[in-house]
Amino acid sequence: MLYHLIRINYICGTLIDKFYIMNIHEYQGKEILASYGVRVQRGIVANNPVEAVAAAKQLTQETGTQWYVVKAQIHAGGRGKGGGVKLAKNLEQVTEISENIIGMMLKTPQTPPEGKQVHKVLIAEDVYYPGESETSEFYMSVLLNRAKGRNMIMYSTEGGMDIEEVAEKTPHLIFTEEIDPNIGLQGFQARKIAFNLGLSGTAFKEMVKFVEALYAAYIGSDSSMFEINPVLKTSDNKILAVDAKVNIDDNALFRQPKYAEMRDVREENQIEVEAKEAGLNYVDLDGTVGCMVNGAGLAMATMDLIKYAGYEPANFLDVGGTADAKRVETAFRIILKDPNVKAILINIFGGIVRCDRVAQGVVDAYKNMGDDIKVPIIVRLQGTNAEIAKELIDNSGMPILSAVQFQEAADQVKAALS
Ligand code: GDP
Ligand code: MN
Repeated sequence: MLYHLIRINYICGTLIDKFYIMNIHEYQGKEILASYGVRVQRGIVANNPVEAVAAAKQLTQETGTQWYVVKAQIHAGGRGKGGGVKLAKNLEQVTEISENIIGMMLKTPQTPPEGKQVHKVLIAEDVYYPGESETSEFYMSVLLNRAKGRNMIMYSTEGGMDIEEVAEKTPHLIFTEEIDPNIGLQGFQARKIAFNLGLSGTAFKEMVKFVEALYAAYIGSDSSMFEINPVLKTSDNKILAVDAKVNIDDNALFRQPKYAEMRDVREENQIEVEAKEAGLNYVDLDGTVGCMVNGAGLAMATMDLIKYAGYEPANFLDVGGTADAKRVETAFRIILKDPNVKAILINIFGGIVRCDRVAQGVVDAYKNMGDDIKVPIIVRLQGTNAEIAKELIDNSGMPILSAVQFQEAADQVKAALS
């Protein structure tokens, strides 16, 4: 029961967040939005200061803007706070700011502590110009509510801020609108959203169009999240997306080749990229116990086991059905790239593959990389020929600990780490 609960926690939390999505940059998210007729803050992406100035000139021709916003393109939010979004009031400032931002290690509340290196900037038109009415910033996201099995639109008048903070301090200022999957977003729902945001006249009509196009973009691109923070009402009552955080469903990329090309592997965890190339299902996590398992379900249970023993898993890794020596070795090497790993737990069920073959694979891999492995290895093999496999490991002369029972494996993880 305990690990059933922990497992649900894992499935709903970390793994879903990391496993089934592809992140893209703001400029790419805005391209998708624009292709569905969502009004966006116009911008042109640039790789260096020279391109940035050319982009600014082109923007002035196309939109008439005199000021520009230089926006760091990294897969993390909170860029404004970290100094990754700056206003430029002329072309000299575009050069200067781009020089500073491109190449910098940008630190925001959503990046790793060392920050993320910026490779590109988006040069965007200034949309906060003064006019007949005030500008207002709203929050809006479309996302899948997994508990309800429905998409929903979440929105708030408190835009431009950290939405987690709004949710915590003033939850009554966040509204949600659930979408019935059989009939899709209804007109009255879009109008209700515009109304709840306090809009009237032109801005109201613009918002209705905005919400409808945003939802169409979300559905059409097979995304699991579109977060627009802020949605801006300009001083001349246009409604547009100033920012775009988009998660595309990884499993839908086969039918979205245009979007698959938007992947930027430089932004992704390098160990995960390498594992993917090796055909391994690997997700990097924060704990200290590396694990190698066959089958996603058993991998979940193994992570629960590690938690049950009082530790945190360093990764999720499903080696799949063919756990031969080569594959086991590749998996070892990948797990060991994570400097936080203090022990490795191998938990394989020998159903299709026989346990003694896996055991031989582990022993061979260990022989091959003996000096590279500096952490204790615990192997639990269960299923066909489990006992032979245990003997094979115990007699190998290698410092590998073997277990047959689940609990035994947990105890050995504890013993190895305490
Ligand atoms: P984030 O910090 O990563 O969420 O990046 P955003 O794209 O949301 O930009 C951060 C902030 O920059 C916004 O909340 C705005 O306050 C500001 N900003 C964005 N575009 C403009 C613009 O056109 N003009 C001005 N003056 N400020 C802008
Ligand atoms: Mn934002």
